Amino acid sequence: EMPNKPEISPEPVAAQAGGAVDPVTGAILPPMHLATTYERDADLTYPKGFIYGRPDNATVRQTEDVITSLEGGDQTLLLPSGMAAATTVFLALDTPAHVIAPRVMYWSLRHWLAETAPRFGIETTFVDTADLDAIRAAVGPGPNRLIWLETPANPLWHVTDIAAVADIARGADALLAVDSTCASPVLTHPLDLGADVVMHSATKYLNGHSDVLAGSLTFSATGRAAAMAERAEAHRSGVGSILGPVEAALLLRGMRTLFVRVTRQSGSALEIARAMTGNAAVTEVLYPGLEDHPAHDIAKRQMKGGFGGMLSIRVSGGEAAAVRTAAKLTLWKRATSLGGVESLVEHRASIEGPASPCPPDLLRLSTGLENPADLVADLNQALMQCPHIR
Ligand code: PLP
Repeated sequence: EMPNKPEISPEPVAAQAGGAVDPVTGAILPPMHLATTYERDADLTYPKGFIYGRPDNATVRQTEDVITSLEGGDQTLLLPSGMAAATTVFLALDTPAHVIAPRVMYWSLRHWLAETAPRFGIETTFVDTADLDAIRAAVGPGPNRLIWLETPANPLWHVTDIAAVADIARGADALLAVDSTCASPVLTHPLDLGADVVMHSATKYLNGHSDVLAGSLTFSATGRAAAMAERAEAHRSGVGSILGPVEAALLLRGMRTLFVRVTRQSGSALEIARAMTGNAAVTEVLYPGLEDHPAHDIAKRQMKGGFGGMLSIRVSGGEAAAVRTAAKLTLWKRATSLGGVESLVEHRASIEGPASPCPPDLLRLSTGLENPADLVADLNQALMQCPHIR
């Protein structure tokens, strides 16, 4: 049995996949349970608690328990993608529901909230979440309200004060959910700061190897999230959106190196951010670890042990120069997604389209595990070849 809160430090929970040796064989690795059904006793009861693979699976449960420990929560649900996890939070609300979400946030989720959620009785107000008064004004009175935060937030890396927004949520009797994908449980514990639910695209840092799509929801032990947890679990079972056991086993394996990966990626990202600050072809470096970041003080308080592996740069010369810089990179791979062991670069404005708040001269960088000096050198050589320099 694994303790819910690690007693000394969380690293062994991740590194040892919860710490349990297989009781049947003594195996250091947990077995992968592929079974979709479980035997009943003669009296028709299920003595081990598992019945069928759509509501629950032993390998999925083991992976969930590790995330619960890392986040300091009560219970975790794993779903087949970050989007499946995030949308489950909204679909677990009573309707008509009112959601307050950041103006700049992960693009696909913003799109779903704006375009699809209204069909399910969910209306969203988008606000600048750095402005606490704007959140307070938007949340208003009434039932079925939820504040959604993402911090640091794609792709400008705004940081929101989770504890301050948790106060607003509690005062207004609304729930607070945090997309903590880019911080990871290594750097931030939203539940300790007063959030009711923490969501991850486990596709990113939790798994870390760009080979699993998954999403997690962890509910707090305060009781405020109990009804939502029950709803979300019934929804997952009802629509059949549980993560597959093979993906769960891969995710469990990926999380074994979570702490060493995120620590290294955060250190490298800071080094890259500082180096880019000194590059004449870069007009702005967006990274919460830099002293001139508008929310650096909040980030220092809220993020422990680093500021994450994500940063963005704005290239002098506009969109054409940014696209050309990405084209000249060799070590950084041009691909969407983030949080993997390989460094990725993306021109977000062309992905997000004309309605995007992302500046056209911006390149989003996901720092991997390569040598940071090599990553800086690759950026420098690509920026050197841009038309504005010559
Ligand atoms: N939230 C953030 C911050 C993300 O970056 C992503 C993925 O790009 C998601 C949610 C959605 O996750 P997934 O792609 O696993 O559905």
